[in-house]
Amino acid sequence: MVDENMLSGICLSEGMAMGKVYIYQDMLQISDDFYNIEEFQVKSEMNRIKIAIDDVIKDLRISYHRISTDVDSELGEIFKAQELMLRDMSLEKELLAELEKELTNAEQIVIRIFNRWQKIFIDLPDPTFQQKSEDMIDLCRRVVNSLKGIHANPLENVPSGSIIVAKRLLPSDTVFLSRKSVNGVVLEEGGPASHAAILTREFGIPAIGQVSDLLKKVHIDDIIMIDAEAEIARINPKEIEIDNFQIKKYKVDNTILMFKKRCKKQAITRCGRRITVMANIGCREDAQTAVENGAEGIGLFRTETLYMSKKHFPEEDEIYSEMKNILQPCEGLNIVARLLDIGADKSLPYLKTGLESNPVLGLRGIRLLLAYPELLRTQIKTILKLRSIFDIDILIPMVTVIGDIQATITEMEICMAAYGFRNKPRMGSMIETPAAALDCKRIASHVDFLSIGTNDLTQYTMAACRESTLVSNYFIEDHPAVLKLVSMTVEQSLGRPLAVCGEIASNCKAIKKLLSLGIRTLSVSPSLIPAVKQKIREISLKD
Ligand code: PEP
Ligand code: MG
Repeated sequence: MVDENMLSGICLSEGMAMGKVYIYQDMLQISDDFYNIEEFQVKSEMNRIKIAIDDVIKDLRISYHRISTDVDSELGEIFKAQELMLRDMSLEKELLAELEKELTNAEQIVIRIFNRWQKIFIDLPDPTFQQKSEDMIDLCRRVVNSLKGIHANPLENVPSGSIIVAKRLLPSDTVFLSRKSVNGVVLEEGGPASHAAILTREFGIPAIGQVSDLLKKVHIDDIIMIDAEAEIARINPKEIEIDNFQIKKYKVDNTILMFKKRCKKQAITRCGRRITVMANIGCREDAQTAVENGAEGIGLFRTETLYMSKKHFPEEDEIYSEMKNILQPCEGLNIVARLLDIGADKSLPYLKTGLESNPVLGLRGIRLLLAYPELLRTQIKTILKLRSIFDIDILIPMVTVIGDIQATITEMEICMAAYGFRNKPRMGSMIETPAAALDCKRIASHVDFLSIGTNDLTQYTMAACRESTLVSNYFIEDHPAVLKLVSMTVEQSLGRPLAVCGEIASNCKAIKKLLSLGIRTLSVSPSLIPAVKQKIREISLKD
């Protein structure tokens, strides 16, 4: 018999978690329900509406504060005005009267009343009323969404302890994830190297992906229990299942605690090889965890999140102070800051670069920065300024040709001369395209260090999009073709410091293969450092 409450998928981020479902939809995809109610149900339907309206008011207040501070105060006023409309007592009376008269479900009543008001406003000649008619559509959508438990806003207002259930999470969604409010994530899509996987791993949030028909099976009031290592989740578990889950979680937590106790010690293989384990970070929380978990440096500081969480181009000072704040826990460690790796699926809402038929092969990474030199210069200047406090090197993303490196070095020299900086930072190249791996010797001769990004290297070598569920069986990060390129990079690195910073670096089944190819530095999600160091200690390259 099929067990409808059992969800199976693939592990995106290890761990075990339980919590109340928070359904996240980026679009209204659910059909509008219509059902009749009995007279005695009027009170409870009205209660649902009141709760939904209260929720929307809370969201509107949050939007008001965020938009007023992030964008401008005038725009913020829109949300204040919408709150006043919802608070109008006559609206509540009208909704109740309609419920009593029509005896249909709350969603239908809300749609009917808001539509009525929208029509009244649109027929009035004054343009202010036209705006009010738009507000009515917006409020109607918000209240209906709230009734259905759908939160169309970015994930910034998730109630604490939630399990996010969604079709997929894009980078712009995941920048709002926080370990404080999110216990776990279950997705219908998402491969092991998808951005959702990377970010959940970075936050240490247990997650599974590729769960078919997920949104049909899960409902708003459900409780979900995730066992990411077993690649399953259970909807509304029975008591005995919760008991078993807690016993297993206790053991897992204890093992992690054991690993954590040794995480500040060096990682040396059984055959005596010292392996350096560094951290990939994107925010202050990561930086903190990296230090707590014994990171021996920051092998990759992804700066995209800083830009993606904004509604407008950030000012230079804003970027400087945010980067300074993020890096503060890492003072004293060597930090590799990657220049903004934007393009393809990591887009900025305020940077319109034009549509491309194949954006993954288009204007992204360093290509995009060279097309927008001002953007590149701001970043270089920010990093140069931060070097008075931190030991920072610069990493160039998505390099394919030597010209990418030469042009970046030229931009850096321009910045140094223009602003009077004397000490040149070390400059490194990502090896994440087959072209870069195959031409590694020449690339190495132009830079001070190299970092292999196996996520993109796998995507481009296997011709399999890292975000696609349909071809995820082709996205094989330890495929011999990918490992051959890693091996060539090691051989042709001209002795430059070389790290692997893609997700394979924390894949316990693949670490030995990487070490056998000569890799001696791994850079991984901060929460995984203790387990990765432990794995290294169990390996002998002589076996
Ligand atoms: C990679 O491609 O392996 C990498 C580390 O960069 P990102 O995942 O940020 O594209
Ligand atoms: Mg990459």
